[in-house]
Amino acid sequence: MFQKILIANRGEIALRVLRACKELGIQTVVVHSTADADAMHVRLADESVCIGPPPSRDSYLNIHQIVAACEITGADAVHPGYGFLSENAKFADILAAHNITFIGPSGDHIRVMGDKIEAKRTAKRLGIPVVPGSDGAVTEEKEARRIAAEIGYPVIIKASAGGGGRGMKVAHTETDLEIALQTARSEAGAAFGDDAVYIEKYLEKPRHIEVQVFGDGFGGGVHFGERDCSLQRRHQKVWEEANSPALNAEERSRIGGICAKAIADLGYSGAGTIEFLYENGEFYFIEMNTRLQVEHPVTEAITGIDLVHEQIRVASGGGLSVRQEDIKFNGHAIECRINAEDPRTFTPSPGTITHFHTPGGLGIRVDSGVYSGYKIPPYYDSLIGKLIVHGRNRVECMMRLRRALDEFVVDGIKTTLPLFRDLVGNADIANGDYDIHWLEKYLAKGE
Ligand code: ADP
Repeated sequence: MFQKILIANRGEIALRVLRACKELGIQTVVVHSTADADAMHVRLADESVCIGPPPSRDSYLNIHQIVAACEITGADAVHPGYGFLSENAKFADILAAHNITFIGPSGDHIRVMGDKIEAKRTAKRLGIPVVPGSDGAVTEEKEARRIAAEIGYPVIIKASAGGGGRGMKVAHTETDLEIALQTARSEAGAAFGDDAVYIEKYLEKPRHIEVQVFGDGFGGGVHFGERDCSLQRRHQKVWEEANSPALNAEERSRIGGICAKAIADLGYSGAGTIEFLYENGEFYFIEMNTRLQVEHPVTEAITGIDLVHEQIRVASGGGLSVRQEDIKFNGHAIECRINAEDPRTFTPSPGTITHFHTPGGLGIRVDSGVYSGYKIPPYYDSLIGKLIVHGRNRVECMMRLRRALDEFVVDGIKTTLPLFRDLVGNADIANGDYDIHWLEKYLAKGE
């Protein structure tokens, strides 16, 4: 087992990882920018190293500084959290070259899944169902027209290097296609330094369902069921739940089995998420994330398994603590992402939190790094906390969520809490009857 883990992240996820390390008796080092000197993860860590000024590229993305912090403190492993360097293959390779363990998969696996065209090809080869579309990159308009006609409109043009919901353009007709192709390519080139784009069928009413997988490091793979993340705004997840209200146990075990086998065949190590769109009973692979996800706590709530413990165990060569048959799904869990944003316009609302009071009681978990008096710096993403609620079934979970949202107080800044208070009383949400476009339509109506 590791002696000392360096956490290369900030905010709630840095605290989340720190908690797991403490439970396992592992020393912790955190790195932080000058803007985060007062952050909770810095206060609670055994050691901290300031690695630079506020902008992420000079601090949380600065590989040299992070490796130097490992050397200075004698950390033998790095947990990257999500975002920042968590899916940076070069970072994983550099750590390996310094004999520091990256708590995640190999650089090569990150590279394959980071390129969406390559990822889709790999998924197909491993027997995972994919969205119909082009086999690889598409550059010529003529070719794009041929493929679109073959799969049928509408189609979506996606950047191979895309991420965070950026670099996608929908074309409803052949006339749209030329412009969509051109804009997607030039936007992808500007945003990601890679203008490769591909085409796939645009699904009109899908749900976003993702499967949590784990490779044990010895060639074995398991799945931890799925999460439904269909409630999105601008392709960003807002509300996540497990299990999906749309799947039954048989479908769960079928898609889970396909994913677990694929992970084993790939020789993948550590946590991963295989994302699908799900429509009319069919799954279509869209991408794989090679890291821990923001929404992992809903899976922890229904399985009772600490996924960060498992990540650390696997990375240290100790394998998983559970076999597939030990993973049982118990009840229902929902996560609300609480952002420091206006609940209607979603403009960021940094500033000082004058009062912060979190709900409690059975089945409530709040993962957050903020506190009363905390000043939210304007440099990073606006997630200030996650409310995760568990109940014996979805009805109980929703009752508890409504109560927990009423108790939650964040004063001094705007947050998305009022949006969740509205959603929890909505009939479609109560029935679990929503697809990936539901939330945008709801917001557009301004109800
Ligand atoms: P990113 O890596 O940027 O998050 P994804 O490929 O995971 O990109 O897609 C993000 C979201 O975009 C999906 O959750 C879905 O809402 C939408 N999307 C992606 N591909 C399609 C598609 N073929 N049809 C309809 N919507 C799609």
